[in-house]
Amino acid sequence: MHDFTIEVHGCRQADYTGALSQPIYQSATFRHPGFQQSTGYDYSRCGNPTRDNLEETIAALEKGQKAWAFSSGMAAINTVFQLFKPGDHILLTEDLYGGTVRLGEIFAKYGIEFEYIDTTDLELVQRSLRPATRAIFIETPSNPMMLITDIKALAELAHSHAALLVVDNTFLTPHFQKPLTLGADIVVHSGTKYLCGHNDILSGFLIVGQSPCSQQLIEEIGLYVKSQGANLSAQDSWLMLRSLKTLGLRVEKQAANALQIAQWLKQQPEVTDVYYAGLPEHPGFQLNRQQASGNGAMISFKVRDSNLARSILGKVKLIAFAESLGGVESLITYPLYQTHECMPKYLLERTGLDDRLLRLSVGIEATEDLIADLQQAFR
Ligand code: PLP
Repeated sequence: MHDFTIEVHGCRQADYTGALSQPIYQSATFRHPGFQQSTGYDYSRCGNPTRDNLEETIAALEKGQKAWAFSSGMAAINTVFQLFKPGDHILLTEDLYGGTVRLGEIFAKYGIEFEYIDTTDLELVQRSLRPATRAIFIETPSNPMMLITDIKALAELAHSHAALLVVDNTFLTPHFQKPLTLGADIVVHSGTKYLCGHNDILSGFLIVGQSPCSQQLIEEIGLYVKSQGANLSAQDSWLMLRSLKTLGLRVEKQAANALQIAQWLKQQPEVTDVYYAGLPEHPGFQLNRQQASGNGAMISFKVRDSNLARSILGKVKLIAFAESLGGVESLITYPLYQTHECMPKYLLERTGLDDRLLRLSVGIEATEDLIADLQQAFR
C-alpha cells in the first residue's frame, strides 16, 4: 500500500465492535486464562496492544521488519548506544542533534569512543573506519546545517567493515525518505517531531530492516526495551496513531511552505546564507533527490550579525521562538543556545554553527503570513 493509505489506516486489528479508531488498552497487566496460557500479553512494559499497533504502523512506513516505540527520541538513541561495548568505536555525523553528542559523552564513560566527522565526505569516512568501528550514525539532512549524506554509499562502507549504519530519520520522516531500503540497518526517530506533528507528545522510535544482522538486532534491542522500560504509554501510542493519519498531508504542505520561504529568505539583504536542500544551488540537492522524495521543512539561515539574530527571536509574533521542530506550528530556534548548546567548541567551529545562525521549522500556516511575520521581525 502507499504511504498515505498506511498513514490513515495503520495496521488496524479487526475489532468485534467495528470501531474505526483503535481502542486504548489502558492496562498495566493482562489476565491469563490459565496456567501456561496467554492472550499474547502479560505486562505493558513487555507489550501493549495499542503500542503494538503503532509499532507495526511505523515499521510498515519505514519498510522495516520490527519497530519499538519509546517515551522519547533520546530513549531510542540510548537503546542504540547500548548495543556497543567498551573498546568499540562509533563514527557520527559531526553536525547532528546536540542531545546525541551529550549522550555520547555519557557512554564514553563506559569506554565507547565517539568520533564526529563530515559524513558527506566519503573518502574521509573510508579513512576514519577502524577495525574497532561498530557503527556509523548519521543524520541527513544534518542538524542544523542541512548537509546531505549518501545513505547507500555509507551502508556499503559500513558493511564492508562489519559495522552498522544507523540513520536518524527525524527530519525527513518515512514519508520522504526510507533509509532501510537504501541499506541502513537501524532507523531512529524523535517521534516528538513530524511523526507527532502537533508539539504535544514526546516519543521516539527504532526500526530494524531486513539486513543480515536484523534477527540479532531484534533480539538484542527487544531485550533492552523490556529491561529498561522506556516504552511509550498506551495513551500516547493512540495519540501518535491519530497524528500519523495526517503525516503525509502535513509534511507535504510544510515542505511546500519551506521552499517558498527559503526562496524568499535568499532575497533578503539581512540574510547572508540559506541552508535548505530544496534549493538547486544546495550542494546536496541532487543527492537528496535521488535518495528522498522530498526536502522536508527545516531551513537554517544566517543573518548579518548576532544582534539581528537575537532581536528577530524577540520580535516574531506568529512564529514561536521555541525549541523543537516538525509540528504544524512554525518554530524558530537559536541552535547555539538551544538544541546545540552542549556541542563542543571544535565541532561548532568545524560545522560553522555560530551566533548568526537561526533554524526555522516551517509549519502549515499560510506562507504569506509566515513571510509577513519574518519581514516585520527583520526590519
Ligand atoms: N534526533 C533529532 C534529529 C532531534 O532533533 C531530537 C530532538 O530535538 C532528538 C533526536 C531527540 O528526541 P527527543 O527530544 O524526542 O528525545
